[in-house]
Amino acid sequence: MDNPPRLAWQELAISRIETRTPRVRSVWLERPAGFSFQAGQHVDLRLTAPDGYQAQRSYSIASAPEDAAGIELAIERLEEGEVSYFLHEVAAVGDTLELRGPIGGHFVWTVSDPAPVLLVGGGSGVVPLLSMVRHRARRGAATPMALLQSDRTAADVLYPDELAKLAAAGDGFRWWPTLSREPSPPAGFGHGRIDAQLLARVIRALGAPPALTFVCGANRFVEAATTLLLDHGLPPASIRTERFGG
Ligand SMILES: Cc1cc2nc3c(=O)[nH]c(=O)nc-3n(C[C@H](O)[C@H](O)[C@H](O)COP(=O)(O)OP(=O)(O)OC[C@H]3O[C@@H](n4cnc5c(N)ncnc54)[C@H](O)[C@@H]3O)c2cc1C
Repeated sequence: MDNPPRLAWQELAISRIETRTPRVRSVWLERPAGFSFQAGQHVDLRLTAPDGYQAQRSYSIASAPEDAAGIELAIERLEEGEVSYFLHEVAAVGDTLELRGPIGGHFVWTVSDPAPVLLVGGGSGVVPLLSMVRHRARRGAATPMALLQSDRTAADVLYPDELAKLAAAGDGFRWWPTLSREPSPPAGFGHGRIDAQLLARVIRALGAPPALTFVCGANRFVEAATTLLLDHGLPPASIRTERFGG
């Protein structure tokens, strides 16, 4: 059978669900044969109520392109959020969801792209960046890469064990988590929002200015981080952004 066209809707079963943080859960969808994507891309999900009402939202893929097991999405529950409520409170393993994609050709990274690479994520904005980090690891690449991850508290940090382990490998991946509302952050975590000083420290540790920078999160986070990057002197063309809304 032919693979469905990339932007056709297809029904995929939920194969696994895992709570990541008090506000974020991962939902894995079965990965159909021939479904290929690049790190950083997203999919659209569409929900249809019994009366025909439909709601559609975009979700970044957290898995690496090399992960055959399933398509991992990580969904943050928003106050009064229509689709995120459904995915947290209603969706269950075995249910099917309508999906189309993969989508997006600008916010993508492959190991053959120029280095070093700087990733800057706020909250669930780390999801597409995690796909890039995982892609680098699965390919055994030595690309100098730094992930600057901003969250409110330690409990909000997504994928801390996985990221700490990858950073401990000492193969050129550095992880810089920082917490804005944790007066005494745990060992290894910074305190405060991302600022010019922290950014300068991360870029110094990369060894050279990043050839590519990816910034992802809520609108205000992306705006603030991008301003800092431009003020630091990074060329606008080297900065790619993805806004989740808000
Ligand atoms: C390319 C792309 C990729 C995305 N990837 C992810 C992802 O990996 N994980 C994820 O959790 N979300 C992701 N989002 C956001 C997602 O598409 C939805 O916007 C989000 O889940 C809210 O949908 P909802 O139906 O629950 O809330 P809605 O019912 O649409 O909105 C509820 C309230 O929340 C506000 N709001 C909407 N979005 C945000 C936001 N991001 N931050 C703060 N307030 C908001 C609305 O203004 C409204 O007041 C992505 C968005 C885009 C465009």
